[in-house]
Amino acid sequence: MADLRPAILGGTPLATSPIRLVRPVLPEFATLAPEVEQTLISGMVTKGQHLAAFEQAVADHLGVAHAIAVSSCTTGLALTYRALGLNGPVIVPSFTFMATVSALIWAGATPRFVDIDPATTNIDVKAVRAALTPEVQAIVAVHNFGNPAAIAELEALANEAGIPLIFDAAHGFGAQYNGQPVGGFGTAECFSLSPTKLLIAGEGGIVATNNDELAHKIRTGREYGNDGKYGSDWAGLNARMAEYNAILGRHSLDQLEQAARQRSQYAALYWAALFATPGIGFQAVRPSDRCAYKDYSITIDETYFGLSRDMLRQALAAEGIETRAYYDPPVHRHAAYAQFAPVEGSLPKTNWLVKASLSLPMHSEMEFDTIETVCNAIKLICAYGEEIAASQ
Ligand SMILES: *Cc1c(COP(=O)(O)O)cnc(C)c1O
Repeated sequence: MADLRPAILGGTPLATSPIRLVRPVLPEFATLAPEVEQTLISGMVTKGQHLAAFEQAVADHLGVAHAIAVSSCTTGLALTYRALGLNGPVIVPSFTFMATVSALIWAGATPRFVDIDPATTNIDVKAVRAALTPEVQAIVAVHNFGNPAAIAELEALANEAGIPLIFDAAHGFGAQYNGQPVGGFGTAECFSLSPTKLLIAGEGGIVATNNDELAHKIRTGREYGNDGKYGSDWAGLNARMAEYNAILGRHSLDQLEQAARQRSQYAALYWAALFATPGIGFQAVRPSDRCAYKDYSITIDETYFGLSRDMLRQALAAEGIETRAYYDPPVHRHAAYAQFAPVEGSLPKTNWLVKASLSLPMHSEMEFDTIETVCNAIKLICAYGEEIAASQ
């Protein structure tokens, strides 16, 4: 009989085998094998038919004119920022993954960090409006954890100011805005295909846009800037996607809709099991949208839960449950970006959320039992909160 005390107090861990935060669901080898073999026989290991087929399939799925495959979301963002000529202040959230901002620096621009709406975890439209001075060159928003940003409001602000709006859609595959896949909004949207995301190519990214001129620039830009006649219109990179990655990506695309639906179902199970636990908050998703749940993140209010987010993380680790504290520290506190940090205290919601946010295990395929185990562990730890706090 299991000892029903939290493992951190000497009980038996609730997870019989470790529950990992992320577990990529990948296509069967047999479905890929003929195309991989054909690629090897043909010798066309890059710039071949599989890249073209993948790009077309993604453009059709997203309903955009151009889907350009690149080596990563980071190179896609850097090429997009650079192609748009950004070399001054760009509005960006600090509550994001560091690559949103590192790509800005590589392009020659500078971040102007603004706060978020802690309910949606996305950039706060009012904060964007307040930061929009004449020298601002662009707005960058993130569909954070797969939750569509306030797209219409941001588009209105960008149009009014006459500046580009770029979405870091690294978490965006599977997300829907008013029932439509994200991808065709703003000036461009950049997706990631790395193994922690829903659509996986091993490594890779997609730049989606309806702007023909920008699409042409990204296509030459991923190829050194080569205009096709061994000249350079602008200084590019090698940011190509190899055929193997395109093959994996196209088969992963076949699994995307099911992955997104299952994640929505798992999110509903998490909510149902946890909503009555004191001090737990949930990401707000507009009823007309679908969050892709690249991550399933709750918030912990220590006053009501009885333990801090970090103590809960420790106690869950003892149960064999892996969690993550996204994005702690926020980007403006990383050494590389501290010079761009606004005055202390001016991003209060970001500073609050990085200490409260806790990402729970979320996979494209999970047993219901796994979710139940995670939730039982959280509730058990909450019930023993005082004793755990005293034992630390
Ligand atoms: C993963 C991620 C990236 C980087 O994607 P790569 O494909 O690994 O370059 C950028 N932005 C956000 C928000 C991410 O989560």
